[in-house]
Amino acid sequence: MIVTQCWDDGVHDDIRVADILRKYNAKGTFNLNPGLHKSTRELSWNFKTPSGISKEVYRLGIDEFKSTYEGFDIAGHSMTHPHPTAIPLEAWQSEVADCKKWLEDFFGFEVRGFAYPFGQYSDPVKEVVRECGHTYARTVTNVDKPFPPEDPMALHSHCHFLSPDFMQKFEKVRNEDGIFYFWGHSYEICSEQMWSDFENKIKAISKTSGVKWEFIADLI
Ligand SMILES: [Zn+2]
Repeated sequence: MIVTQCWDDGVHDDIRVADILRKYNAKGTFNLNPGLHKSTRELSWNFKTPSGISKEVYRLGIDEFKSTYEGFDIAGHSMTHPHPTAIPLEAWQSEVADCKKWLEDFFGFEVRGFAYPFGQYSDPVKEVVRECGHTYARTVTNVDKPFPPEDPMALHSHCHFLSPDFMQKFEKVRNEDGIFYFWGHSYEICSEQMWSDFENKIKAISKTSGVKWEFIADLI
């Protein structure tokens, strides 16, 4: 079976996620909003954790991009994370095209994928992402069988990484020798227990016989 994953928003906890993925030779794609990052790390917002604690979320500095994402794939998430269907189509076009160009100029490789901010899209929004040269765009919809996608510009996943039935879904796909796809935000990992649970998941997947990690863009 194949396993693929992606992470949104380019925040400081991506460093720890990336380190865990490297430790278990897991491939992953990070979806970035280059227009929201300063040259150095900056406090961005307070995330309310499930236990009601407020957690500071920092956007990575551009000076941390290369070391954080070395060896991983990068996909677009728009320049500034607007609601795609709430802005004029020309503005959306710039958000998508400028993002792809920025990331390609910076990282030096082709940016093939995209993730819709807030998971929001419409037919014209999808068309812009396709016209800008992306091969797929991820939604936040969960489905039983994301691959092969009916429409790669509305690529769904199996589940979010904190989904209570994550391992059951993984096992089901394993029995079918299919492609398992999950996504998340690293800032949602907000205690040492959660970090340990996450590492155990990645470790369990990597140690499962027959598992091959792939980048999403290589599966389209
Ligand atoms: Zn996002």
